[in-house]
Amino acid sequence: MAAIISSEGHNLQRERGEAYINMDWDKIGYDVISTDQMFIMKSSKDGTFTEGMLIPFGPIEINPNSSVLNYGQGLFEGMKAYRKKDGGIQTFRPQENAMRMQMGAERLLLVAPSVEQYVYAIKQVVLANERWIPPYGKGSLYIRPLLFGSGPVMGISPSPETTFLIYTNPIGNKYKGHAGEINLLIENSVPRAFPGGTGGIKNISNYSPVLHVTKEAKAKGFTDVLFLDAVEHKYIEEVSSCNVFILKGNVISTPPATGTILPGVTRKSIIHIALDLGYEVEERRVLVEEIIEADEVFCTGTAVGISPVKSITYQDKRVEFKIGDETTSMKLFRMIRGIQSGDLEDKNGWTAEID
Ligand SMILES: *Cc1c(COP(=O)(O)O)cnc(C)c1O
Repeated sequence: MAAIISSEGHNLQRERGEAYINMDWDKIGYDVISTDQMFIMKSSKDGTFTEGMLIPFGPIEINPNSSVLNYGQGLFEGMKAYRKKDGGIQTFRPQENAMRMQMGAERLLLVAPSVEQYVYAIKQVVLANERWIPPYGKGSLYIRPLLFGSGPVMGISPSPETTFLIYTNPIGNKYKGHAGEINLLIENSVPRAFPGGTGGIKNISNYSPVLHVTKEAKAKGFTDVLFLDAVEHKYIEEVSSCNVFILKGNVISTPPATGTILPGVTRKSIIHIALDLGYEVEERRVLVEEIIEADEVFCTGTAVGISPVKSITYQDKRVEFKIGDETTSMKLFRMIRGIQSGDLEDKNGWTAEID
């Protein structure tokens, strides 16, 4: 079944007869675009979620005393819905994101939706914004679930109410920060996460403490910052919003997700795919010296996909790596993106059809 998709990108008609939103899909980037509906669900007094609903996308009312505004009691997630060649829609491993949100909720004392509630809500919100899902090959619908303490607190105590909210935003294929080649700066003085902290969960406050170093690096022409461990400052951890891998010979290595690294769904899937393809994969601490000796370096994340790194600069020394179509990173990228977009067979049951 072929979807009816015009190359001009205007007034596209799908097989079901529903219109795409009227916009130039060839120009879609990584900007804020408000869609039609958002999903919202508030925990009840007994500390469970019962019923959520779709409401028009827009500002929400929030108590100034809420724990999220005062103390940052909140989590986020990031997923994508893809339009397949036949016009169908699918998401990638939504249960993984649901479980990660539960882990974070446990850490921050928030009420977590069950995996079933989470996956159902994702489905509802994607369908409600169906006309915003870019046509096959033009991009994806980014899905942003939030979980936060919306109830009033005065002293330091967990919120009496948790809100689960999901909104969507269509995006293009190229991640804004990584639209071209990736040049990373190794940051020595400011760690992203520390042992016992919240680097292993998608805490809403993980990004703001490192905004200043990423901003400075970008001003110097780097794409992003590669952070080191907070204790010895000699092991690589991850880039501000994506995990990092190195390739040396037939061995792919990535730092272990033991609390200071965000356990990415893309990271987990790439480890699986690389093993299937016959690579040796090691989850272990990786020294800065090793990354400098690597054949290839690449980043993984829902937003970036798999991005080959062109150069890394450490203490004023710049090292370059292999990039381009022939690299292992691009091979892995084609595999995972093929599965995510429905072009390649999904042998692992990772994709979830939405209809
Ligand atoms: C979300 C995120 C990632 C990537 O996780 P995916 O599940 O692959 O999208 C990596 N690092 C950080 C810090 C993140 O917040």
